[in-house]
Amino acid sequence: MAFHVMIIPTLGCPSECNYCWSSQEGSPVMSVETVEEIVNWLKTFRNEPVTFTFHGGEPLLAGLDFYKKALPMLKNGLNDLKPAFALQTNLWNMTDELAELFSEYNIPIGSSLDGPKELNDFQRGKGYYERTMRGYEIAKAHGLKVSFISTFTSYSIDYKEDIFNFFLEKGLTLKLHPALPSLRSEDPTKWAIDPQKYGELLIYLLDKYLENMGEIEIMNIDHLCKCVLTRRGTVCTYVDCMGDTFAVGPDGSIYPCYRFVGMPEYVMGNVSDHPTVEDLSKSAPAKLLDEFKEYVDKECKRCSYMKFCRGGCPYNALKINEETNKAEIDGVDPHCDAYKIIFKEITDRVNKEFLSSQGMMAFGAGKPEEKVQKPGIMSIMLKRI
Ligand code: SF4
Ligand code: SF4
Repeated sequence: MAFHVMIIPTLGCPSECNYCWSSQEGSPVMSVETVEEIVNWLKTFRNEPVTFTFHGGEPLLAGLDFYKKALPMLKNGLNDLKPAFALQTNLWNMTDELAELFSEYNIPIGSSLDGPKELNDFQRGKGYYERTMRGYEIAKAHGLKVSFISTFTSYSIDYKEDIFNFFLEKGLTLKLHPALPSLRSEDPTKWAIDPQKYGELLIYLLDKYLENMGEIEIMNIDHLCKCVLTRRGTVCTYVDCMGDTFAVGPDGSIYPCYRFVGMPEYVMGNVSDHPTVEDLSKSAPAKLLDEFKEYVDKECKRCSYMKFCRGGCPYNALKINEETNKAEIDGVDPHCDAYKIIFKEITDRVNKEFLSSQGMMAFGAGKPEEKVQKPGIMSIMLKRI
């Protein structure tokens, strides 16, 4: 897992998506002095290439001036770490000036759109779609690469075909995100999708992807296939993310990941104290996440997918103990069943493809590639991502 620091300039957000658990009204905005402290902290923290992702809340609320100062500060101040950048935004506040600046730094953008306008605005609020598409047009005009996350919920999963067709027809790159029970929500399961249904959704998308190969990109399917091929996790959900990923909140507090930002019990330190790797590893959140790792080593040891799943996402696995009101580990990622379903499907299909190509060779039916009519799992596995 590569070294990744998420910068959360604010937890504020102008949108009010129904299932959002990460925005906080009235959240402060990070100062440029805090960015300077991030630079000072990282100069001696770890000597390897780093990727910074600006995340939120809504990171563009920090404004043009913030990025005009923060980007060169990080790039030049940490030149030895060869910083790369990414941005996750709803694009509402995108302007020509910001887009120009982001294109100078070659920043890929992840945004959020759940599908066709009506469905999207039902989940994310009226007017969301128009505003995001307006920002998307600006980003595109400046040559920025934009991919979209579609959050599949207990509601939208019934419209999977409409959602897939929407992304296909618009030529948009799709990344799906299953709505999760949140540690912060009062009704944590309202929008969450059932693991069995999530697994079936992944198989549906795998089939649609193969039917429409070359016409659309579905990032999750690419990664799931790569995991099976390489037998290593290729995104944070399927590796031990702890110790390689950190997030810095608006006031300089350091957390294990953006998902914990704003929750005081997950603060590992502050950038202004320039903590070392060892300091952070002694913090209470690091110990809790180490417990997760040990739990996975024990609980998942007989699972065939253990090497490239690693128990899934530790944030998803945490539960609030109602008596102590503290988060604790009482299982692996609740999407375990979905992971098993899709990893098994990919493994079975690739084995079948392999055996049928061997069979054809044995009966002298010519080279396997001459007989393959449709793209198969191998074509996804070997794709460059
Ligand atoms: S806690 Fe979950 S979302 Fe955060 S880096 Fe780890 S796997 Fe990824
Ligand atoms: S699929 Fe489930 S049992 Fe297997 S490694 Fe992942 S979380 Fe553990």
